[in-house]
Amino acid sequence: MQTKRHFLKTVSMATMLLAAPEICTAQDTPWSDIGFDRLLVANTDGDSLAVRFRNGQRYDASNLQRLNWLWRDWRDADAQSPIDPLLFVDLALIQTRMSLDFGQPKAILINSGFRTARRNATIPNAARNSQHVAGRACDFNIVGVSPPLVVGYAESYGIHGLGRYADFTHIDVGPSGRRWTG
Ligand SMILES: [Zn+2]
Repeated sequence: MQTKRHFLKTVSMATMLLAAPEICTAQDTPWSDIGFDRLLVANTDGDSLAVRFRNGQRYDASNLQRLNWLWRDWRDADAQSPIDPLLFVDLALIQTRMSLDFGQPKAILINSGFRTARRNATIPNAARNSQHVAGRACDFNIVGVSPPLVVGYAESYGIHGLGRYADFTHIDVGPSGRRWTG
């Protein structure tokens, strides 16, 4: 969404970059914590991270591990699994575009990330082969934004798996074209 306000912001950003050229490759938004290569994210267990998960074309392995920890199954003994980093790419895209459109940083709150198969089996109506168990999914909110609006952004970016729920949104990087309403 290219508004006049956005244009002005871009100009002032360019001025900033002249003063500090060493950060120019990372400065895709006016905010240090928001951008296509980083996430501002918390979970409902009380952890929060502002983390850059990739540098250029390479993922940052230690920062991916910090995200894996935030994605852990805190409802089942803090079990962890490597999370598919494409999920972080999709989330960063949604977070960045929404923050730019709203004109302010929009934090992500994860209410379910990785799930153990054992716990997944106890959740009513959860798919047995849930993408949560495979480490490719999350249920989340953009803080202060209604889920239908988040779904609209996810749709426009062709997110592979997209579940609409009243109180949150599910996205995953499993097979493409899956849509449902919970
Ligand atoms: Zn889900």
